Amino acid sequence: EKALKENNNIAGFLVEPIQGEAGVYTPSDDFIKKSQAICKAHNVLFIADEIQTGIARTGALLAVCGNCTCEGHCEQQETYTRPDILILGKALSGGAYPVSAVLADDPVMNVIKPGQHGSTFGGNPVAGAVAMAALDVVKDEKLAQNARVLGELFRKKLNEYIQGSSIVNLVRGRGLLNAIVINDSEDSSTAWDICMALKENGLLAKPTHGNIIRFAPPLVMNEEQLLDCVAIIIKTLKAFEK
Ligand SMILES: *Cc1c(COP(=O)(O)O)cnc(C)c1O
Repeated sequence: EKALKENNNIAGFLVEPIQGEAGVYTPSDDFIKKSQAICKAHNVLFIADEIQTGIARTGALLAVCGNCTCEGHCEQQETYTRPDILILGKALSGGAYPVSAVLADDPVMNVIKPGQHGSTFGGNPVAGAVAMAALDVVKDEKLAQNARVLGELFRKKLNEYIQGSSIVNLVRGRGLLNAIVINDSEDSSTAWDICMALKENGLLAKPTHGNIIRFAPPLVMNEEQLLDCVAIIIKTLKAFEK
């Protein structure tokens, strides 16, 4: 808001509803709605990068859907924030084919005239078909609901462990996009070392920035598999307790 007040040459505000690579920072519930309102007041485009948070990852079809769980087309919902531009990738094709997309309504999209923006493989028909099939799977297999339910279970189990832990400070996230914050300095190698130990125990995870470990498992996983993962994570963390 301060930046937009001080500078009227700002065209757009680009935001990840939950920062992924930076460490799964989950903003307060009204952050997205308020940001959009501020953008609107200053005639600035509200642009959501949902490459990591989109397509059921956070327990709704998009993170900008908030707590709405309809998985459909419900712009009427109070919780839903409709970005001026929506950026999707990665999971858009179920990870099976390279597909990304930038969505916007005509007033924004038609600013680019035919021939002004080229892309060698843009509009690839096979990629389009793969993406549509992947979106059907997300819907048919209720993957948003699965992410929501399993995510709650994951954070509940991890929170129980963290109560008595000296190595983990907190678990945070939404749906199946979660992270734990390791109790060590940001430049320590502890998170990396834990990830290496996790690998030996059969689970792949990667530190994001510094002392944070992100967990973003496949959305098709079931409860039994999630509990197996929790057991591996806890077993591994125990070896690092002081
Ligand atoms: C992967 C990623 C990108 C880059 O997407 P490309 O398809 O590789 O250009 C941008 N934003 C976020 C949040 C990402 O995770």
